Amino acid sequence: MNTLKRFVTENILPQVEMPGQYIGGEWNSIVKNHADADVKIALAFPDTYSIGMSHLGIQILYGLLNERDDTVCERVFAPLDDMESLMREHKIPLFSLETYTPLREFDIIGFSLQYELSYTNILNMLNLSGIPVIASDRSEADPLVIAGGPVAISPEPLADFIDIFFVGDGEECLPQFIALWKDMKRTRLSRQEKMVSVAQAMKNAYVPSLFDVTYRWDNTIQQIRPKIDGLPPLIRSASVKDLNTIYFPTKPIVPYVKTIHDRITIEVMRGCTQGCRFCQSGMSKRPTRPRTVENIVKLAELCYANTGHNEISLASLSISDYPALQSLMEQMNRAFHPRHVNISFPSLRVNEQLQFLPSLLNVVRKSGLTLAPEAATQGLRRIINKNITDEDLYNGVREAFKQGWNLVKLYFMVGLPTETDDDIDAIASLAYHVSELKREVGGNFGQVNISIAPFVPKAHTPFQWHPMISLQRIKEIRNRLFDRVRRKCIRIKFHNAERSILEGIFARGDRRLGKVIYQAWQDGCKFDSWEEHFRFQKWMDAFQKAGVEWAFYVHRQRDADEVFPWDHISCGVVKPFLIQERQRSFHEEVTPDCRIDMCPECGSCARSQNFCAV
Ligand code: SF4
Repeated sequence: MNTLKRFVTENILPQVEMPGQYIGGEWNSIVKNHADADVKIALAFPDTYSIGMSHLGIQILYGLLNERDDTVCERVFAPLDDMESLMREHKIPLFSLETYTPLREFDIIGFSLQYELSYTNILNMLNLSGIPVIASDRSEADPLVIAGGPVAISPEPLADFIDIFFVGDGEECLPQFIALWKDMKRTRLSRQEKMVSVAQAMKNAYVPSLFDVTYRWDNTIQQIRPKIDGLPPLIRSASVKDLNTIYFPTKPIVPYVKTIHDRITIEVMRGCTQGCRFCQSGMSKRPTRPRTVENIVKLAELCYANTGHNEISLASLSISDYPALQSLMEQMNRAFHPRHVNISFPSLRVNEQLQFLPSLLNVVRKSGLTLAPEAATQGLRRIINKNITDEDLYNGVREAFKQGWNLVKLYFMVGLPTETDDDIDAIASLAYHVSELKREVGGNFGQVNISIAPFVPKAHTPFQWHPMISLQRIKEIRNRLFDRVRRKCIRIKFHNAERSILEGIFARGDRRLGKVIYQAWQDGCKFDSWEEHFRFQKWMDAFQKAGVEWAFYVHRQRDADEVFPWDHISCGVVKPFLIQERQRSFHEEVTPDCRIDMCPECGSCARSQNFCAV
């Protein structure tokens, strides 16, 4: 045991909540000798262990990088308040879980960017590691700070803090980068020269310090372009072509402590072509890339044998669109039901197949059926391109109640383009109707939990030009809904309005927001996605101190030809397609899924032809 680990174990951990999250050594974790490795990378998740360890991406990259003989890959998560205070008091630097190595001794720190409200945690973790928070303050001796994940497709608010962003699928670009970095470590190239080399060699690597941004008189962007000749002006997101041939972690780490998702997760399909106009994941991860049924069952068997978890989650953006769902469920049920292993789905899309799904979901625990209609009226659904009907939804729910489910969870968004009070009232009516379906099939009213989130317009979507509704309007909608839903068996969970506004600011933000993030972190903001930590007023003060007008980023209708802070990042889908989809939304025109209808020429399949072969 090294001296840092001994000190922390004996003196610090007895004083903190859930010490098991800081000890490492979990089943299937990997400890390697640092002296044998050419590259040492710490995967940093800017939230707690219990959230980070529930995230499949961390498990994939951890296993993938540790498969390499030349690489040591370890993990680090954001410490909770009590741990952080003691670490600061005793001058203990942030360390990796596997070997208690201080982060600044790694070659590379790789942050996983899952949501915008984790930004202050990144600054805090760097500071706790003794690594300069501002990228331009880092010296040759400091680790390289990289970042990737869904939020990296609109990375500008973090431009001051991250050395290199990797855009797109990590399995595709990280191994290439590690090999490149290993070679460059043997050279006399400076840190800056290495970053230039990476930017030149890898089309998925974005080095923000190598790009200049100029602004117009009205504060919009005039141009974003490389500072040096030879750098590609457009960064292209990496996209794996075939899920069946890429690495999957069949020995996932089994945490000692309770995590958000304590189960095996198998990604059955990547991408979604339904084309919901609000959906950043759907737009940016096209085309669909399914795993074969045989591969999924094989991976599930291996993960089960290596972990002993009693639940397997079949994950996908839209599992209902998996081309061989019936066969998959039959084979999974045959393999795992006798062993009392639960099979779960994140949420189901409403379609004509929904009524057949409850009988396929021969699960051990029928905890709740989760559906995401997003809007409650047909007109609004056409505007957002959510191609579902009430009839399909009711048929599916009726069948679920018949099969023994008691609880239905429904996700909606409010503040969608053109929404009126009638659209809001329709959410309440729909919830009542769903609850009554339980009485139709026998028994009492069904339990319905409706989860409402304000619509946050996101980059790389057809609604990226659209203003977000005001805080005042969100609160009016909230009150209206609570007024209209007065049945005990219908519960409303309304997403925090202020947090949604902050998410909206950063989701379409530019690099001028860096000074706001820095100010907010200095003023004590962290864990902003947590209700109990979030301080909206502190953020508003930070905007004021930094001299940045926040409404500019969130409540403004953008012009059709405005240059966006993410225009130099390509996710495959081309801007003319987004403009066309925006126009179609004005006319309530539905664009069908391209797997079953004509190609809308979104641009994504230029990257892969492997659409739906299973
Ligand atoms: S079905 Fe719609 S909301 Fe769901 S992932 Fe696909 S595009 Fe996004």
